[in-house]
Amino acid sequence: MVLSLDKCIGCHTCSVTCKNVWTSRQGVEYTWFNNVETKPGQGYPSNWENQQHYKGGWERTKHGIRLRQGSRIKVLSSIFANPYMPSIDDYYEPFTFNYSILQSTAKFKTPPTARPFSILTGKRMEKIEKGPNWEDNLGGTFSTRSSDKNLEGIDTKDFEAFERSFMYYLPRLCEHCLNPACVAACPSGAIYKRDEDGIVLIDEEKCRGWRECVSACPYKKSYFNWVRKRSEKCTFCFPRIENGKPTICSESCVGRIRYIGVMLYDEERIKEYASTEDPEKLYEAQMNIFLDPHDEEICREAMAQGIPHSFIEAAKQSPVYKMMKEWKIAFPLHPEFRTLPMVWYIPPLSPVVYEMEQQEASQALTSVEEMRIPIKYIANMLCAGNEKPIKEAMLKLVAMRNRMRSRLVDNDTDDSMYEKVGLSSLQFDEMYRYLALAPYEERFVIPTMRTDHLHDTFAVRSESGFDHPHGKERSKNLMGGL
Ligand code: SF4
Ligand code: SF4
Repeated sequence: MVLSLDKCIGCHTCSVTCKNVWTSRQGVEYTWFNNVETKPGQGYPSNWENQQHYKGGWERTKHGIRLRQGSRIKVLSSIFANPYMPSIDDYYEPFTFNYSILQSTAKFKTPPTARPFSILTGKRMEKIEKGPNWEDNLGGTFSTRSSDKNLEGIDTKDFEAFERSFMYYLPRLCEHCLNPACVAACPSGAIYKRDEDGIVLIDEEKCRGWRECVSACPYKKSYFNWVRKRSEKCTFCFPRIENGKPTICSESCVGRIRYIGVMLYDEERIKEYASTEDPEKLYEAQMNIFLDPHDEEICREAMAQGIPHSFIEAAKQSPVYKMMKEWKIAFPLHPEFRTLPMVWYIPPLSPVVYEMEQQEASQALTSVEEMRIPIKYIANMLCAGNEKPIKEAMLKLVAMRNRMRSRLVDNDTDDSMYEKVGLSSLQFDEMYRYLALAPYEERFVIPTMRTDHLHDTFAVRSESGFDHPHGKERSKNLMGGL
C-alpha cells in the first residue's frame, strides 16, 4: 500500500471503519489496527518510534541482523516478564461516557454532565489523560510533542510557538513487512506471512498469548486481546483482498490517499538487503528487492514459479509500483527498523507550497528546502535520515503542481523546466491522474485470489521465525505480494 500524506485530511474515517469491522469487541477496546496520528507528536502508543525504549525491530550485529530484543534464548527467558512490553498506560485506558444520565436524571438547576468511565474497570475516571488520538491537530504542549524521535538533529526552537509549528497526519497500519519481526519473535510459530499475497496473519489457534509479537513489532501493530488471551493484528482485510476489493480503510478513505497494488520481489535477497550496513542505504536496498514486472524474463520466471498470470498482469498495472519504483516519490516508514515494511508514504508538501506556486518555476524548484516542514524531519521518518531522495521526490511533487497550474491557468505548455526533475511529460500526466484525479480502478489494482490451493496456505508459511515442521517446505523464491 502507498499513502499520499499530502492528501490526508485527518478525518479518521479509516480508523473508525476499521474499528467497526475488526475491533469493536471486548478485549480490544484500546486497539486500533488503523490509527491516524498528528506529527510531530508521540503517537499511539506513546513514543512508539523510540526503539531505545521498546527494542522493537531488528539490529545489525557483526554476524548480520538479529531481533533488537536479543537472541532466541533471551526472548524465551524473558517471556514471563518482558521489560519492553508496552503497558495499557502507553496506549490509553479506554473510556466512554455515561450518556444515559442526560436523559434519565431528575431536574437540576444546572444541566447534567455525562461523566467518563473506564471500559476496563467500569469505574468513574476523574481525569482522561490519554487517548488514541490525544495530540490531534497539535493538541497538547510542545514539551510532549518534542519527544518525537523524528525531531532528532533538528533545532526545534523555531517550532515552539504554536503559530510557527508545522503538522501533518500520519495514518498507520500493520506494514505487512517482508522481514517481519513479529513472525521471528513468536515462540509458538503462530504468525506467518502468506505466500500468495504477503499478508502477515496470526493463527489464533496456535497463539498462546506470549505477546512477543507485541514487543518485537517496531510499529506496535500487534495487540493483545486481554479477554481472549490472544494477540491480534491487522489482517489487511484478507477476505476483501481475496475477492479483489481494497481494505476497508482504503475503500472508505475520504481523501483518496490510499493505493493498493501488486509488487513482485526477490525473496532470496531479503536477508541480504535487510542487513545493509548503512541505515541511510536501506531505502535503496529495499527498492532493489522489487522486480520489474515489464521485464519479460522476470515474468517468465514468475510464471515458472507458479505466480498466477492475473498477478503478473496486476503487477504491470500496479499504482504502487509506479510510485515506489518508477517515479520514486514513495518511501518506507522507518526503514532503519529493518523489517522491510510494505506500506509506503508519499511525503507531505507544506502550506508554503501555495507561495511557491506563485513564484517563477525556476525559483519554485529551488525553494523546497525552505518549506515549512523540515526536510530533515521527513527524512528521519521515511528515509533513516537520508535527505537526498526525499528532496528529489518533493521537487517532483512541486514540479507537478506548478506544471498543471501553468497549463490549466496560464495556458503555458512549455514543460522543459519540469523535465529537469527527472520525469517525462508523459509521466507527469500519469502522476497527475493518479495523485489528483485518483480514479478508483487505478488506485486499487487487486487480482482476485486463486482458491484451488487455499486449504494448505498455512502449511507453506514463510521461512521467517522459529523453526516449524513445515517451515522449510517452500519451493518458491520469487514472490508476488500486495
Ligand atoms: S508491522 Fe506488522 S508485519 Fe511488520 S513487524 Fe509489525 S505486526 Fe509484524
Ligand atoms: S480516511 Fe483517508 S483522509 Fe481520512 S484520516 Fe484516514 S487516511 Fe486520512
